[in-house]
Amino acid sequence: MSFQPAPVEERFWAKVRKTRGCWYWIGGRAGKGYGQFMLRSYYQTYAHRVSWLLHYGDPGDKWVLHKCDNMLCVRPDHLFLGTALDNVHDCIAKGRFVAPPKKTRCKRGHVYKGYNVRMERHGKYLVQVCRICVRDSHREAWRKKYGQGLAYRTGSKVPKAKE
Ligand SMILES: [Zn+2]
Ligand SMILES: [Zn+2]
Repeated sequence: MSFQPAPVEERFWAKVRKTRGCWYWIGGRAGKGYGQFMLRSYYQTYAHRVSWLLHYGDPGDKWVLHKCDNMLCVRPDHLFLGTALDNVHDCIAKGRFVAPPKKTRCKRGHVYKGYNVRMERHGKYLVQVCRICVRDSHREAWRKKYGQGLAYRTGSKVPKAKE
């Protein structure tokens, strides 16, 4: 192993300001508001992940999440491991994504139910997307291109949403 822990730790803690509560990362930041740390010359990662690595070992493919909801906090006992899905739920629970009021129908009146509804992230919003409308817009584009006479062929089945 060519990994040298001491310099990494030194570099890491030089960028941390400890308070009685959270320990703040004052180094560079990644796009989403998390602290950013160059672990090795070729590997850049989130500062709170590095904190986890230094204290508990490599988090692997798990996500390192915040109990304190402070994205710049690197205090090890404020962190916990979860999955990517936990992260989404956690963000919703803590209001980091603002979920729009849940609608039961799309703009054009299709029922959001089962297969017909798909969640998509638009910036900080999670929005419901209607698959029937998506399919229709594809059909519309097809008609514009090839005219009304040709049937639109699609490989994906979109079942009718039941009332
Ligand atoms: Zn904290
Ligand atoms: Zn629709």
